[in-house]
Amino acid sequence: STRLAGIAQDRLTDFAAREAAAYAAARPRTRAALEAGAATFLDGVPMHWMKDWPMPFPVLVDHAEGAAITVIDGHVLDDFCLGDTGSMFGHSPEPVAEAIRAQAGRGLTYMLPTEAALRVGGLLSGIFGAYRWQIATTATDANRFALRVARAVTGRPKVMVFNGCYHGTVDDTMVSLQDGRTVARPGLTGQVADLTQTAVCAEFNDLAGVEAALRTGEVAAILTEPVMTNSCMVLPDPGFHERLRDLATTHGALLIIDETHTISSGFGGYSRVQGLAPDIFVVGKCVAGGMPTAVWGLSEDVAARYLAYNAGRASGHSGMGTTLSANPMQFACLEATLSRVMTPDAYAHMERGAARLADGLGAAIERVGAPWHVVRVGARVEFICAPGPLRNGAEAAEAHCPEVEGAIHTALINRGSLIAPFHNMMLVSPVTPDAAIDRLVATFGAILTELFERSI
Ligand code: PMP
Repeated sequence: STRLAGIAQDRLTDFAAREAAAYAAARPRTRAALEAGAATFLDGVPMHWMKDWPMPFPVLVDHAEGAAITVIDGHVLDDFCLGDTGSMFGHSPEPVAEAIRAQAGRGLTYMLPTEAALRVGGLLSGIFGAYRWQIATTATDANRFALRVARAVTGRPKVMVFNGCYHGTVDDTMVSLQDGRTVARPGLTGQVADLTQTAVCAEFNDLAGVEAALRTGEVAAILTEPVMTNSCMVLPDPGFHERLRDLATTHGALLIIDETHTISSGFGGYSRVQGLAPDIFVVGKCVAGGMPTAVWGLSEDVAARYLAYNAGRASGHSGMGTTLSANPMQFACLEATLSRVMTPDAYAHMERGAARLADGLGAAIERVGAPWHVVRVGARVEFICAPGPLRNGAEAAEAHCPEVEGAIHTALINRGSLIAPFHNMMLVSPVTPDAAIDRLVATFGAILTELFERSI
């Protein structure tokens, strides 16, 4: 019979149907609430990604605390999704909650800086390096603004990205490789501009491909994650980043490192841990403990070039910034997170837990002989329903198996563990207990037994 990721198709189909039915049956209150109240939203959800979870309908959260979510039907979920990194340090960390309460009585947004803002600048430089910082509200925006600066200072049109990348809903990056050519991604909604005029795509770990793109002289910046975390999980080859840095310098392109996910790598992110030297550094999501905030910083050299450019720029809209960015609530949360939550001790706990998780999942895979593998970057763990390691976005696209993954995600939720949708990502927070990790490992093992026993 047909197999998907090593699983007999009929076994998988039965399993998925059973799990979907069990999910719906256990959530009468959620079903009733959605029936009564969801119709005011476009397609029934306040943000369309919420429709993309694999369950028959989304959970409705009552509250979250530590690394657990309680849903309105009363179930408690061990949360390894953690708002897909926004809550990587746990839900409402106490120092952040305290900072929010304190700032709540002092105004929420002024379009003016505070003394806390000045302290945050020092904290950012102390943790990530001596960049010249700007505050945005989303990592998407931070990347957009970084690209504007790169184009401004180089006078070049294109961003080079890797096939299968994700940097937020930044129009320019929505390209992929097809038969060696850069093309616009087919799912883009209402796309008019020809993205191949402003972007070029290469495969991750393909330095010859990178060099070919750079040799055109059209590339303003390479925009990349240090590890591809949005295409299953693809690690850089040894020496890849060193060479990438050299190639960017040689060809006059800037290197923008997007650490929005790889901030999981350890204190200061992958760049600090591995000694990368980006021209522009970007991080968002969890940097203010869950308050919508992103930061982007220019190296001293790029900052000087940008200020020189800016001095000669026609006055008027720059295309950068949003009204509520750099507000005092963001700074209160940034200061609390950077000084009291995002600590080396927190990372030590996260990494220890993530290693425990990765080992446990790997052992479960080995036990049933599944042709799968596990990858970890600090606190971030991913199981991949195909053999590994993967070397680029094309291999990751081949490995991605939504039918298998969706069934497993639903089965995990039915048994009390929540992992990130769209792929198989799990994060370990500073407040994730070992017991939650052990439950996830045991549940994953039980699911694999159901999917693989007698079928391999
Ligand atoms: N960069 C990376 C690497 C990301 O993974 C994401 C979101 N998954 C973003 C940027 C965009 O973040 P946001 O959706 O908060 O703008």
